[in-house]
Amino acid sequence: MQVTIPDNVKELIAKRGLKESDVLDVVNTAAQTNHYLKKGTDGLAKKVIGDLTVYALCDLSGQGTAVVKSAYAHKMKLGKIVNVMGESEWKSVDKGHAIATGHVEIEYMTVKRNGPALVCPACNEAWVEEYLATKTLAAAEGLFEAKRA
Ligand SMILES: [Zn+2]
Repeated sequence: MQVTIPDNVKELIAKRGLKESDVLDVVNTAAQTNHYLKKGTDGLAKKVIGDLTVYALCDLSGQGTAVVKSAYAHKMKLGKIVNVMGESEWKSVDKGHAIATGHVEIEYMTVKRNGPALVCPACNEAWVEEYLATKTLAAAEGLFEAKRA
């Protein structure tokens, strides 16, 4: 798998305080294990790296190549699936599971809440979409850290 990160995405990665090497690690691990989600020609992979869960969204339309379209991360830990709401267009590549929309336990600094996520009930696994990770979770993480400080 040849992985490319366009300059504008490199800027986004830096702006979000992420490391390019971590994003490449996410994509390469997904390519090796086949454990990622696919919707059309988009692929979504995640990996826990240190205290972050790092996500990479890639364009997989080229043969043997992945072009990173976006990357994001959250510090919160994802727990049990709370409920399943409906279908999503995502499928898991390794097992062919249909991925649902639903809610998952989200834990941060001992506080547990439920938040929306993409979920695979068969694997008890969840993925947080970009808009949630970059808006909702980032705001919540900021609040918790402000309170603690
Ligand atoms: Zn699954």
